This record gives sequence, structure tokens and C-alpha cells, in this order.
Amino acid sequence: MQLKRLEIKGFKSFADKTVIDFTDGVTAVVGPNGSGKSNIIEAIRWVMGEQSAKTLRGGRMHDVIFSGTDSRKAVNIAQVTLILDNSDKFLPIEFEEVSIGRRINRNGDSDYFINKESCRLKDIVDLFMDSGLGKESFSIISQGQVEAVFNSKAEDRRAIFEEAAGVFKYKLEKEKAERK
Ligand code: ATP
Ligand code: MG
Repeated sequence: MQLKRLEIKGFKSFADKTVIDFTDGVTAVVGPNGSGKSNIIEAIRWVMGEQSAKTLRGGRMHDVIFSGTDSRKAVNIAQVTLILDNSDKFLPIEFEEVSIGRRINRNGDSDYFINKESCRLKDIVDLFMDSGLGKESFSIISQGQVEAVFNSKAEDRRAIFEEAAGVFKYKLEKEKAERK
């Protein structure tokens, strides 16, 4: 499975529709401080189901919406779409190409999409959880996270490995069943 394309509109510093095509090999993003490099990674985290506004450096989730600059009015909707090449069927879904989308407005209302069809947040989270690509997995390593692995408690570290190994989802379901 490979990232093919990321489309960002109204998310953080990206007021206009911005499209990033990922070609084969490594993609590096370079630019001056504050130009939006980290915001690109946050767009990917967000569309994959991130629920913590803090992880996205905001207070409330709708803080991800472009809030305007001196020369540009704020917008009311943030939308991110991530297109993945799934020809190797890495994700447990029929399609060769999978798009996942997320949209939020200033009321805080969120919509989620798989292949342009409306879905639940859970559908997106489940899609990635077992692939080792979940939002908490170390497929996305942000600043300070390497240190956090070494400094974490044994059980927290275990959870990281369990998600990477694909058993974390079953553990969550077991715990949920036991609470019922
Ligand atoms: P550095 O090299 O310092 O890590 P960076 O390229 O990673 O910088 P980001 O942190 O991605 O930069 O971008 C920060 C910029 O995004 C800031 O200028 C900030 O004002 C802007 N920004 C963040 N959230 C919003 C928002 N909701 N609306 C408008 N601009 C925003
Ligand atoms: Mg940064």
C-alpha cells in the first residue's frame, strides 16, 4: 500500500485547495519555519481519525479550520482527502484505490468518507488499526516520540508493539465485551 495523493482544503494554514502527489521513493517536505510542513503531517493524522485536538496542537477540534490571516478571511470548513494505492490489498477492502476523507465545520460537526461514501469514524479507524498504520502507531513518528518510547512504562510500550502487531484491536474489543 502506498500514499498516492493528499488533498487539503481549509485545514490549518492551507486556505486554498492544496494537492500533494506522492511519487515512488521518499518524499521530503522542505520549507522555512512556520510554512506548514508539520501541518501536512497533521492533515494525514487527522484524516486517519485523530481524535485528540492536543496532538494537533489545538484546543478544540475545529481549531484545525483555517482561521484567517491579515490578508485572508477565515473559512468555515476544513476538508482533507488521502488517496491510497491498495493494489496489494494491504487494507482489508476490495478496492485497488482507496480514498478516505474527513470534513469539519465551525459547529464541530464532522463527516467521514471512504471512497466518497459517508461512513463512521470507527470504519476509518478499523481500516487502519490492523495494518499497523493506526494514528498511534510508529508509522508516524513525530518530534519527541522516539524519546517517549524509551521513557514509557512497560505496559505503555507493550501497547505500542501490540498495535504494530495487529492484536490491539482484539484487545479493545475483548475489554469492551467484558464491560457489557
Ligand atoms: P517548523 O519548521 O518551525 O517546524 P512548519 O513548517 O512545521 O514549521 P507548521 O507548524 O506546519 O510549520 O505551520 C505553522 C503555521 O500554521 C503557523 O504560521 C500557524 O499560524 C499556521 N496555522 C496553524 N493553524 C492554523 C489555522 N487554524 N489557521 C490558519 N493558520 C494556521
Ligand atoms: Mg514543524
